[in-house]
Amino acid sequence: MTVHQNFIAGNWSQTDAVVENINPSDTRDIVGHYASADRAAVESAIEAAHTAFPAWARVSPEVRADILDRVGTEILARRDELGALLSREEGKILSEGVAEAARAGRVFKFFAGEALRLNGERITSVRPGVEVEVLREPEGVIGIITPWNFPLAIPAWKIAPALAYGNTVVFKPAELVPGSGWALAEILSRAGLPEGVFNLVIGPGSKVGQAMVESPKVRGISFTGSVPTGRRIGVACFEMGKKVQLELGGKNPLIVLADADLEVAANAIINGAFFSTGQRCTASSRIIVESGIHDRLIERLVDGLARLRVGHALKPDSHIGPVVNAAQLEQDLSYIKLGREEGGRLVFGGERLQREEPGHYLSPALFTGTDNSMRINREEIFGPVASVIRVESYEEAVAVANDTEFGLSSGICTTSLKFASDFKHRSAAGMVMVNLPTAGVDYHVPFGGRKGSSYGPREQGAYAREFYSVVKTAYTQP
Ligand code: NDP
Repeated sequence: MTVHQNFIAGNWSQTDAVVENINPSDTRDIVGHYASADRAAVESAIEAAHTAFPAWARVSPEVRADILDRVGTEILARRDELGALLSREEGKILSEGVAEAARAGRVFKFFAGEALRLNGERITSVRPGVEVEVLREPEGVIGIITPWNFPLAIPAWKIAPALAYGNTVVFKPAELVPGSGWALAEILSRAGLPEGVFNLVIGPGSKVGQAMVESPKVRGISFTGSVPTGRRIGVACFEMGKKVQLELGGKNPLIVLADADLEVAANAIINGAFFSTGQRCTASSRIIVESGIHDRLIERLVDGLARLRVGHALKPDSHIGPVVNAAQLEQDLSYIKLGREEGGRLVFGGERLQREEPGHYLSPALFTGTDNSMRINREEIFGPVASVIRVESYEEAVAVANDTEFGLSSGICTTSLKFASDFKHRSAAGMVMVNLPTAGVDYHVPFGGRKGSSYGPREQGAYAREFYSVVKTAYTQP
């Protein structure tokens, strides 16, 4: 049996504990066996990153740029193979897996350029003869903790800027989907990084992640995942005086005004709510529809959903893959049951499906007749489940959209420039879309939310430097 090992201090370390990576499209298929790190292994990885930091922090940005560029080039060249591995372990369909792999490659190439662009400022002092400079420096060891739903892209958009700006990294992928993270680590292991600059530790969050959070040698934690885990990590980091960046859930509203193009709106909803099996923090889960278009839209949505095929992620005719595992499927089904009990009308799907292969299949579920106080509209379900909230006006739509403890992404479908422009300003979300799904973002611009969805500086694009570098103000009297 081949065990994919952890990568610590430049070596593939040996371990006895192993986790099986199971394909959610076909639970008979074991994607691979992966090492599960113990606390001592995590401490070795942190120590290695700590030791490697001073030299890596001073390395020429050109060296960092070349390494990141090589990583990006290899990922892009292998996008089909990496995308297939991703789809096999996570369950998103192959085209989505390949697109995510390509995105990861692009992210590395973007940050290769950013490594060369990190600059400070020179400001005129209020004191004659004194010079003031604002310098940017790396933080130190960064702990990177990622979820299962984007097993390549999220690690890429954290690891690439961390390394670009001169930090060293200890990376913990979600134990449920270690394959993509391991493949990325394998590419990084051959890219020319000095020993200890990048380390991989696979294992359960409660053990491996916790050890990273608790270590005084880790200067910052970048985390994406659920709200409860994120908040606990945030509190622990605060108590230890550690920098922390949290990307948490969403309950993203997509407004459809009566003047919207029906086809555009229906496509945005089906893509935003149900593609990637609805397992996106930016998924369009609350569909807020003005009365004038409500019935026509529902009819169009039900028709569109009926045409979607839920099936094995690697089969070319599948539009939606399985749910990631049995526990998530149970969570989705329990919310569907709750939605009915709360008085929602299930107009499509929401049923466990049998396919040729034993997998966690669920038909996309659409509720109508819901209101914004229902738990299905307040809590993140994280599955192919969306609910329609009917409203009478644009003003009511905006009020409902913003009435949530989350604020990651939002959207509006309208042909009115006036409403589109107004909503861009009044939406209480970190990202706002017009005539587009709430999910699906570029890799070179800031990503993140407001309120309960995010904490700390934005990820991605040039804004990533706010988390992965620290400012120093230098005064000089020449
Ligand atoms: P978690 O928040 O539990 O996990 C996210 C990451 O944190 C994983 O790598 C996990 O490790 C790690 N982790 C867990 N506990 C700790 C801890 N005490 N200290 C440090 N790290 C820890 O999310 P799940 O993956 O379990 O998913 C649960 C729910 O979270 C989903 O049903 C969904 O609602 C939501 N979710 C939201 C996401 C988003 O982007 N907003 C993404 C994924 C999930 P490991 O899993 O290996 O044990």
